[in-house]
Amino acid sequence: MPAKPKVAFFEFTSCEGCQLTVVDSLQDHPELLDAIEIVNFREAISERGQDYAIAFIEGSCTRPSDEARIKQIREQAAIVVALGACAHLGGVNAIRNRSDLQDVRQYVYGDKAEWFETYPARPIHAVVPVDAVIPGCPIDRDEFIMAVTHLLQGREPQIPDEPVCIECKLKGNVCMYLRGKVCLGPITLGGCGAICPTYGDGCEGCRGLISHPNVPSLLNVLAEHGMSREQVEAKMTLFLNYQTTELEAEGVVDVSHS
Ligand code: SF4
Ligand code: SF4
Ligand code: SF4
Repeated sequence: MPAKPKVAFFEFTSCEGCQLTVVDSLQDHPELLDAIEIVNFREAISERGQDYAIAFIEGSCTRPSDEARIKQIREQAAIVVALGACAHLGGVNAIRNRSDLQDVRQYVYGDKAEWFETYPARPIHAVVPVDAVIPGCPIDRDEFIMAVTHLLQGREPQIPDEPVCIECKLKGNVCMYLRGKVCLGPITLGGCGAICPTYGDGCEGCRGLISHPNVPSLLNVLAEHGMSREQVEAKMTLFLNYQTTELEAEGVVDVSHS
């Protein structure tokens, strides 16, 4: 019988909610535990194996010393998967990137601020090459199972590059814009089943941008629906700050002055 692929889970700056979703998913799919050998998963087991082929990384890189550890994981693993919005996008950790980091550190740690190193939060792919992404905050449990299954089959997990609006319309939802609210669904990668609009809230962009999003057009729509510049900036920087900053650097948008 061939050896099972060795799998490890690691966290950087995160709430560990995505790893919790993994534990939850595996409880419903014990057959996967027969197909892989988990050698390192601090949230679930005591072992700390350093010999693994597939590494799932949750969380953002938020301090210089994170980089050496991420690079070490990359050197060991044949496949690195970014697990969730923090690892994929910088996620909510990157909200702080628009602030003076010294002020942020002071606010959190008070007179002990100097004890803690920091720098602008960044997704894992900004530090090392990433082979696959499981988006979302938290990840979708079915997508996690799909991703592991595809990796075991030697395939790259593929998330359809379609906006949330597609799933939302297929569900027959009345659009949030017709209900007096706003929504980032037109520019956000779907796959979550449009869960937020389905339950009455606009999409906040937790799965990241689709390829070639028309962000300037959406910003116009947000303004037409009464959002102030500060509200637009807050909306575009909750999960999407890192990607928005990249678009600003390319001159595509400027949400701080939209
Ligand atoms: S993506 Fe969301 S649920 Fe996952 S670790 Fe980050 S904050 Fe937690
Ligand atoms: S509610 Fe949001 S996701 Fe649904 S159709 Fe409207 S803009 Fe698109
Ligand atoms: S609707 Fe938007 S914010 Fe909600 S889960 Fe889907 S991508 Fe994330």
